[in-house]
Amino acid sequence: MLTQADQKLVESVFKRYYLEKASTVYVPDRISEREFGYFPFWDKTMIRHIYVDSPEKLRQLLVKNTPLHVYHSAAFYKYPSAPMEEKEWIGAELAFDIDADHLKTPCNRKHDVKVCPKCFSTHPTEFDKCSKCGSGLEEVEWVCELCLEAAKEETRKLLNFLEDDLGFSKIRIAFSGNRGYHIIVMDEQILELGQQERKEIVDYITGTGISLRSLGFPEDSRKNRMIRVVGPDVSDPGWRGRIARTAIQLALKPDLDELSELSGEYTLAKKYIDVLKDSSEEWSERCAWDVLPKSVVKFLAKAAIAYASARIDVVVTSDIHRLIRLGNTLNGKSGLLAKIIENDELEDFDPFYHAAALHQDRRIEVYVLKAPKFKIHGEEYGPYENVKVRLPLPAATLLITKKLATVSRLAAN
Ligand SMILES: [Zn+2]
Ligand SMILES: [Zn+2]
Repeated sequence: MLTQADQKLVESVFKRYYLEKASTVYVPDRISEREFGYFPFWDKTMIRHIYVDSPEKLRQLLVKNTPLHVYHSAAFYKYPSAPMEEKEWIGAELAFDIDADHLKTPCNRKHDVKVCPKCFSTHPTEFDKCSKCGSGLEEVEWVCELCLEAAKEETRKLLNFLEDDLGFSKIRIAFSGNRGYHIIVMDEQILELGQQERKEIVDYITGTGISLRSLGFPEDSRKNRMIRVVGPDVSDPGWRGRIARTAIQLALKPDLDELSELSGEYTLAKKYIDVLKDSSEEWSERCAWDVLPKSVVKFLAKAAIAYASARIDVVVTSDIHRLIRLGNTLNGKSGLLAKIIENDELEDFDPFYHAAALHQDRRIEVYVLKAPKFKIHGEEYGPYENVKVRLPLPAATLLITKKLATVSRLAAN
């Protein structure tokens, strides 16, 4: 929890932002059929079931209430402001959430910490209680360029499934404003899909339940030893081509750690690594399934599927009542903008540049408990530990909302 003074400061920053920029907020279509909801600054309960019938009313809602987080339903309802069971669901966009939390990036261990809200001290994540005062600790999920690059890579994979394999074309992409990306499919033909059908799309994208046999791989590696494996090739459509291309990538430079993580089988990875290394040269020419023993083929195919699948939050996509963050609004966990990104802008999108939307020219003084090195608008900050610094608003707000800095401790130091 932030201190009252921190909360007040962030609220005033958000308030000014919406006063000046409410007109830039994304307005979802069919606005009057959606449910809106938001978290206010001073209450942990979401205010929801809000009906908004025009872009103007949406802007007024933001200016009047200064939300910490604001959402709208991916679903369309006949009565959006009614209680859930009386809303009368009409349809819903297909929503995907990609979050660095699920990606196990190696930097997580380095930059995530816990803080004691009482004595402003930081502790390793394995601690539950403050070693100084015994208070319960709060987790800080830092967001770094590596985490966000990993999330972007998953977004690219997902877009490839959605556009090339499934043929969707009305796709909206947004930075989440914190640790990932949101991808929303708006094509007419998906709007009425139920939970089960959405689950099938999730299974396809995550490569769940792919039959190796239907791809031309041997089901049982001990049987039919004499039959040559004719696995998928690079130019094949859909998953077949994806597996072939990924297998080549993995076989060209077999890496024990990578293969054991992808397959989840350390012993097998260790057992097969040398065979794969020996076959590397063949793979530089072609998709060389036939040079490998069948057991290794199966192992490599499974690793390729794990690598090529997109790591999405599966719960979000099958939920037909899901609330999603409103585009181009501030995320209360970072002060960054949940910015809508055009498809062709994704490659060059830099969250710490394009989504750092607060006034760059205003500086405030904060006491920083601890912060790794970070960059905003091309300028580098930190690392900091127990120091007073004057920072531009985007940097200061990021640290305060991450609970790593406070304005409450300035006088004492
Ligand atoms: Zn403490
Ligand atoms: Zn990171």
